[in-house]
Parts: sequence; structure tokens; C-alpha cells
Amino acid sequence: MITLPDYLQLLPKTELHCHLTSTMRATTLQELAGRYGVELWTDDAERLFDFADLVDFLRGWRVAHEVLRTPDDIARVAWEGVEDAVRDGNLRYREYYVNPQYFAHHAVPLSYTDVIDAVIAGLARAERDFGVGFRVVVAINRRESPESAVALVREMIAHPRPEVVGIGQDDLTPENTEDPLRFAEAYALAGEHGLMRTAHVGETPSASPENVRAAIEVLGCDRIDHGYRVVDDPAVLALAQERGIGFATTPWSTTICSGWTLDEGHRIRAMVDAGLPISVSTDDALFFRTDLGREYREGLPALGLDAEAAKRIALAGIDMAFCSDAEKARLRAEFRAAFLALGALLEA
Ligand SMILES: [Zn+2]
Repeated sequence: MITLPDYLQLLPKTELHCHLTSTMRATTLQELAGRYGVELWTDDAERLFDFADLVDFLRGWRVAHEVLRTPDDIARVAWEGVEDAVRDGNLRYREYYVNPQYFAHHAVPLSYTDVIDAVIAGLARAERDFGVGFRVVVAINRRESPESAVALVREMIAHPRPEVVGIGQDDLTPENTEDPLRFAEAYALAGEHGLMRTAHVGETPSASPENVRAAIEVLGCDRIDHGYRVVDDPAVLALAQERGIGFATTPWSTTICSGWTLDEGHRIRAMVDAGLPISVSTDDALFFRTDLGREYREGLPALGLDAEAAKRIALAGIDMAFCSDAEKARLRAEFRAAFLALGALLEA
């Protein structure tokens, strides 16, 4: 017999909204910072992950990239992140946002292929060791210019890798806004070349449902990251429902980046009640002191969601994934078998 929190912890999971750098272990961050002489955002180890809000967190997040100096550092972090998520939340498949532009600014710059191939090497080794499938989504850095986003998509087109399947985003614009239309040209180019598309919208305090609409109608997104403001406008909600758009939500991050409480009045709960396909992810586990198990074990009950809802969320993560239909079918079969076994233990 197991409790609901145990059940949620043990449930097999996908994670679609996960920034590679944020899968780093705190101990690895500190070790590499020491090795390369990188000054972290605070000297107080106890307060290293205390962030006031999204903008405050992003300052730390940018610095964290500076400790990843070599392809070996990147591959190590990629592998360790899988080992941790299997242990902490029974991860079975994950998609990673990776922004090679951060590493181009190092004293010894890493190229697009240096970064991407290191990520793939680490994740492929983890797939062999832990059986966790993966895909890579290249992230547009919203602090950089629209032209640099187009250049990034051109790099993807020039250096195709079967594991690299689409574009997404990270950071915020220099004005700390989402401004999805700023990157319309990069998204159009990605679409022309058959890349999948997702965007971070409807998250920040200043974001509107119109950002969600723009991501769907103009950027042509196949799914949306965050997107919480979708429930603030019935017309945008109806658009998302009609298009069958899935949302990669990150419950714990909203307590820091949006200042919201995880309860039955939360927008993620409203999205579930509206019948939108939602998946659950950590976004930036290292920085928000969360992990995939915790998002389910503590997050879902706080939102008033039960075991049935958790199963739908786990399966929605497969539906929304950017992997092949064959891989999705294999994951669904694996998940359904685990649901039966865990369900028997929960009811015993
Ligand atoms: Zn994110």
C-alpha cells in the first residue's frame, strides 16, 4: 500500500519544459565555479537560491552558464541531470531548452555545434544508462536581438541533428517583457524548415492573454510554455481549445516568478478545468529548489488535483512531446502498465 504523495512521486513522467543549465546540481555549480574562478551572485551559500522574483532569478541564471566552460562540463551536467530526475521523480522522457549563444561569450568561445553535440553526448549516455529518451529544443535568448534569433535558426538549419527538433525561448527581453512578436521572423524561418515551435508566454506579471494568442496565431507554436494568462480571456481560451494547444506548465516556478500560491484558485487548475492539455515540469529545478517528483507530489495536491488528473497530465506530456509517434506509443504503453501497477498499490 502507498499514499497519494508516494503514488505521485513514483508515477512515470515526461518533462517538456526544462532548461539544461537548470538541471545542474548545486554541488556541481559550486565545484565548477571554484575551478574556473567564477564569482556567483552571492557569497552566502545558504542564500544561493533565494530569489525575490523572475528578474532576480534571471541574474543568477545567466551567471550559472559561465561555469560551463568546456564540452565535457556540459555533457557532465546533462548526464547528472538525468540521473537526479530518475531518482527524484521517475523521469522517462525529457526535452531540454539549450541556448548556445550564452557559451559564445566565453573567453574560449564554444560554437553552436560544440554546445549542441556536448549536450547530445551527455544525454545519449544517460539514455543508455537510465533509458530516458530526450530531444533538444534550441532556445532563443530574448535579451538578444531579433536578428540574432534568426542567425540562431540559420545555425540549426546549417547543422541539423536528429535530436534537435525545434525552437523555444529563455530569459526575457532587455525591458523584462515577453514580447513574442519581436521574434516572428525567426519563428517563420523555423516553420519553413519543419522545426517544431514553442514559446514562453503568458507568464510574467505584465503578460496578457494577447501574448498567448500571438504565440499561437503569429508564431505558429505547436505548444506553449507557461501560458497561464490563457484563462484570463475567453476568446483566447477558445482559440487554444480549438487548436488543441498543449501547455507545458511549471507549478513551483509560479510561486517565485509570478508570486502566486499553489491552491485551487491557481491558473493551472483553471487550465485543467477548462480541458486544456497540460504537462508539468520544473523549468529551473536548481534555482527554485524543486524537482520533478516534488512538482507532482506537492504541487498537484496543492492545486486540488488527484491521481486521475496526475495520470492525464503524465499522458498529456507524451502527446505534447516533439518525439516520433513510435517513441510516443512506446512511452504510452510503459506509462499505462505503470499506472496499473501503482493504482493497485494505491487502492490496496
Ligand atoms: Zn522556462
